[in-house]
Amino acid sequence: MRHPLPDLPASLVTDLVNEWGTVPARVSSRPWTGFPEPTAPWRRALEAAWPDAAPGDAEIARASDAVHPVFAAGVEERRNLLNGLVERVDLQPLLLPSARGWSTGRRTEMLVGAMVATLVRAVDAGHRLGVCAAADCADVYLDGSPAQNRRFCSVRCQGRERVRAHRAHRADRRRG
Ligand SMILES: [Zn+2]
Repeated sequence: MRHPLPDLPASLVTDLVNEWGTVPARVSSRPWTGFPEPTAPWRRALEAAWPDAAPGDAEIARASDAVHPVFAAGVEERRNLLNGLVERVDLQPLLLPSARGWSTGRRTEMLVGAMVATLVRAVDAGHRLGVCAAADCADVYLDGSPAQNRRFCSVRCQGRERVRAHRAHRADRRRG
């Protein structure tokens, strides 16, 4: 039996990985207070994209951990990881009345499947995947900009790294 998958926006996939993933929580200097609250916007967005059976925290965390390495990998390794995940969740295209969707043969892997489908679509569209270059951050991002030169998950991390680089530069000058 095939299970049709919800269509998750790319920005929601990165939000889920950043808010529920084990690695972003461990590396981040943000205070970690556990999984997002019931009113958190990411949870609301997931419920909106998946109205009939939005998954619980443990499943979101497990799916987030499954796809985090895809963002951290180089191009060739990323292709291998995505192919492995497509196989693991038995992901297949599914023709719908209005568009092309995706389905999985594994009911317990529906969230991983939906996230992988979104990432495959993003890579197909030529988007870059990455992990934030800031020292205390492992949040992921999708870069669809024409220049493809994004390095940070957020303006906050970009600003923090700029200050850090500036201080290091001044300290060097004082020493020299
Ligand atoms: Zn960051």
